[in-house]
Amino acid sequence: MTDLLAPDEAPPALIINEMGTSPLVLICEHASNRLPKSMGTLGLKREDLDRHIAYDIGAEGVSRHLSNLLDCALVLNRYSRLAYDCNRSPEHAGAMPEVSEVFEIPGNKGLSPSEKLARVNGIYHPFHLAIGQLLDQRAVHKRRTIIVTMHSFTPVFKGIARTVEVGLLFDQDESLAKKLEHSFPGFDTRMNEPYSAKDGVMHTTAIHGAARGLPSLMLEIRNDLITKEDDQRAWGERLAAAFKGVT
Ligand SMILES: [Zn+2]
Repeated sequence: MTDLLAPDEAPPALIINEMGTSPLVLICEHASNRLPKSMGTLGLKREDLDRHIAYDIGAEGVSRHLSNLLDCALVLNRYSRLAYDCNRSPEHAGAMPEVSEVFEIPGNKGLSPSEKLARVNGIYHPFHLAIGQLLDQRAVHKRRTIIVTMHSFTPVFKGIARTVEVGLLFDQDESLAKKLEHSFPGFDTRMNEPYSAKDGVMHTTAIHGAARGLPSLMLEIRNDLITKEDDQRAWGERLAAAFKGVT
């Protein structure tokens, strides 16, 4: 089996502000559209790698502003969800998608078990191991921890326009979502939209939040609201004010 990442390629998890004083720990699984060099472009055109299928447009920028404003730790994934979607378990059909929305991903077609394992071992495991170690350290120091995963979604999905602008997603634990429900006046804010735990899209909060008994939330912002740098900053400030009131 050849290595997925070359020796000069960085590990999947990039931790910003690791010692941040806030109880919030932000996780952005879909921050990047970069692919490991060993994958080329997965048979896609370069411009297709700039679409939402490859990453959550704007999510990294918003997350960095929020991390900075509230002094909270932030874990970014350096690699595209098309290489491995770190918010999916290895068994999930969407972990290494052959089709994303309406786009076929040629380089993900018919992967052999060993090719899939290389991606699991090269991206999924090290990414979640790094988060686990960060949370272990916080537990050792008895630090309060609230997990918030930071995402964006496309305004049009399979030809259908979405009017929801902010999604507060939770599985068992609704407490944080309920507190934030009215924190974004003027924006169409909904619970468990445009996805929910039933769709199997809350893997990170399940394995790091629920499994440790930590409160958690998956936050989704429609990506047309955060495409520009100025808007990312404004949403960072809006979220900082909202979280300040509830954490
Ligand atoms: Zn996402």
